[in-house]
Amino acid sequence: MQADLLVRDAYIYVDKDWEIADGWIAIRDGRVMAVGSMSDPLPTAQKVISAGGSLLTPGLVNAHHHMYQNLTRSYAPVTNGTLFEWLTGLYPLWAKLDTDSVYLSTIVAMLELLMGGCTTSMDHMYVHPQPYLIDAQFRAAKEIGFRFMGTRGSMTRSVEDGGLPPASVVQDEDTILADCERLIAAWHDPSPGSLARLALAPCSLFSVSETIMRESARLADQHDLRLHTHLAEDTEEDRYCAEVYGCTPTEYFERVGWASPRSWVAHYIYPSTDEIDRLAHAGVCTAQCPCSNMMIGGGAADAMDMRRRGMRIGLGCDGSASTDHASMWLEARMALLLGRFRNGPHSMSARDALDMATRGGAACLGWDDEIGHLRPGACADMVIWKMSPIALAGALTDPVEAWLRCAPAVAGTTIVNGRILVENGEPVFAGLNDVLKSHAEAARRMQGL
Ligand code: ZN
Repeated sequence: MQADLLVRDAYIYVDKDWEIADGWIAIRDGRVMAVGSMSDPLPTAQKVISAGGSLLTPGLVNAHHHMYQNLTRSYAPVTNGTLFEWLTGLYPLWAKLDTDSVYLSTIVAMLELLMGGCTTSMDHMYVHPQPYLIDAQFRAAKEIGFRFMGTRGSMTRSVEDGGLPPASVVQDEDTILADCERLIAAWHDPSPGSLARLALAPCSLFSVSETIMRESARLADQHDLRLHTHLAEDTEEDRYCAEVYGCTPTEYFERVGWASPRSWVAHYIYPSTDEIDRLAHAGVCTAQCPCSNMMIGGGAADAMDMRRRGMRIGLGCDGSASTDHASMWLEARMALLLGRFRNGPHSMSARDALDMATRGGAACLGWDDEIGHLRPGACADMVIWKMSPIALAGALTDPVEAWLRCAPAVAGTTIVNGRILVENGEPVFAGLNDVLKSHAEAARRMQGL
């Protein structure tokens, strides 16, 4: 059978249990058709790429992000704030979001992710000063050809109810739940190989009502969707939950019916070990965001310990105003450095970080049957990594360790669903300059400049 595309002469990391030192991978109809060694017979293909010995991995999976935040990157008035100070300072700017600015920021975010080797991302969109913002994101993903899990985020508690955001960006319960139903019908595609799925994602325990938490879980059951929220990210959240709910964040999470295999949470920095064990047992996954956690000085989860306790761990770049970048390679490197800094050099390898950034992220999204690995039948989402030969000079013994330890790696070629979306390190997207120009205007308007 002829392949659509054959990549040859690559070091192929298929998944954590299968690497091929001098290999090829054949793609047909958006799927991995076969993988093999260069000493095996090669299939014929319409197009052939020689990887010149470079490392080829599954596309990285981003399990936590807020794409709209690239409109307020490194915003000077709040760069040195705590999480709550940072949020309070930025909400009035984000209150100016509209469908145009969300569309533009989503295009920029997805192209940036592709250049950093990410082929699937979720987005946690929870600021809704206007309707139809998530529709704009799905349109952007479709235009690019990116594999996208939009999430219908929500907030019901403004400053008037003891929350952080202004009243203009929160919504009432009926509006939120009706919009969840509308978005499921409009965009959620549960079919195999889908490029567009939806999950439900109340912003955090301290920003929505108990009804929203419970009803989101009920709707997710009804429509077989994933559930996502921020959990135990900050000690101020502990204090809030103790005062308002009389329990810890994890206890409240369990009380409202979220401790299920449908759920994945972001950060999860301050649980007790007993709480980690309980959520691991329930099948809850966690997205660690090392750069964001360190940048904001909020502490960091012990990801390898959580894995040992049976919890699946993915990585996320978090919002582009907290880490100000969207490179999943950088998140994987930071996860490695953070893990080894915390627990010593035997505690974590580059392969552990890569497994988190691929299979772990896919598990968070409930998608690990099809993405995060390159076994035959998987979605054809992959990256041929580009590194400077100067930076790699002398790295002869282990291409996976070298990939994460040596100088910054960027994607040379990124393939999603069998289509090349980054070539020679640059996105294949018509109209990029116009998008960047319009994005700059939208960012200036939002920042009042
Ligand atoms: Zn977040």
